[in-house]
Amino acid sequence: MARIRHVFLDRDGTIIKDKHYLADPDGVELFAGAGRALGRMAQAGLSLFLVTNQSGIGRGLYGEREYAACSARLAELLAAHGAAFADELHCPHAPGEGCSCRKPGPGMWEELARRHGLDPAECAMVGDKAADVGFGLGCGFAATILVRTGKGEATAAAMGLDFTQHPVFELGARAADWPHVLAWDLVAASQWVLRHAA
Ligand SMILES: [Mg+2]
Repeated sequence: MARIRHVFLDRDGTIIKDKHYLADPDGVELFAGAGRALGRMAQAGLSLFLVTNQSGIGRGLYGEREYAACSARLAELLAAHGAAFADELHCPHAPGEGCSCRKPGPGMWEELARRHGLDPAECAMVGDKAADVGFGLGCGFAATILVRTGKGEATAAAMGLDFTQHPVFELGARAADWPHVLAWDLVAASQWVLRHAA
């Protein structure tokens, strides 16, 4: 496996608590240790990219302005840990709009790869839903990591997988639609990534 240089991250249920269509910046709440985990990866020279489905915009539940306010709040919280995204994209569409950017579609990867000249063999994806796993696998990333936070437990169960007593468990590439790694949370995921970083 190539060494990992770039980490793609889901937001809700992975970095911050999933508040279900979050529109209020005061509701942005990091998981315990998440800010520090991102800070350690950033300080190790990894570039961090946020890729988030925000169908609440397409559903008319909140607007780009509210999303931007939440992004600014997240950036503020992460800055306290020395972490910042190299770039970030969100898909504003509702399911069924036929876009290519809604995960697991590859649109956000294609745009970020074009902007930054990224090689999927040097990338890892971290997320809590099947859409995140499908995104990482579909884009051909070196590693796709499912976290247990957010919807992670249910996602694993639906795949017939179980989180073990170990914070990080490597499945490898045993099944075409399984993540490569199961991690209790972003802290555990970041420790695995740091062990495989360039
Ligand atoms: Mg999520």
